[in-house]
Amino acid sequence: MTCGKVYNYICENLDERIDSARCRRIREHLAKCPVCRKYLQSMKTTVRLFQVLPVPPVPPSVHRDVLRSLETLRRTEGAAGPARRARTRQR
Ligand SMILES: [Zn+2]
Repeated sequence: MTCGKVYNYICENLDERIDSARCRRIREHLAKCPVCRKYLQSMKTTVRLFQVLPVPPVPPSVHRDVLRSLETLRRTEGAAGPARRARTRQR
C-alpha cells in the first residue's frame, strides 16, 4: 500500500467503522506513515468544519448572476480555440 493509494481511499474511509481488508491495509499504512496520518487529520478537520458551519442561503439574484456569468464564460471559452472547446464539450 503506497501513500498515493491511501490518499485515494481515505475519503471513502473517513467513517472508521468500515472493516474491509482495504480499510485494514490503510490503517496499517497510517500506523507507520506520519505523512498520511497528517493528511487524514486535516481531512477530518475539513469535514468537521463543513458539518458545523451553517450553509448560508444564496439569494436568487446572486444565483441568477452566477448562472449568467457561467453562460458568458462558456461562450467566451468556446470561441477561444479548439483545445478549450473540446474540453468544454466533454461536460
Ligand atoms: Zn503514506
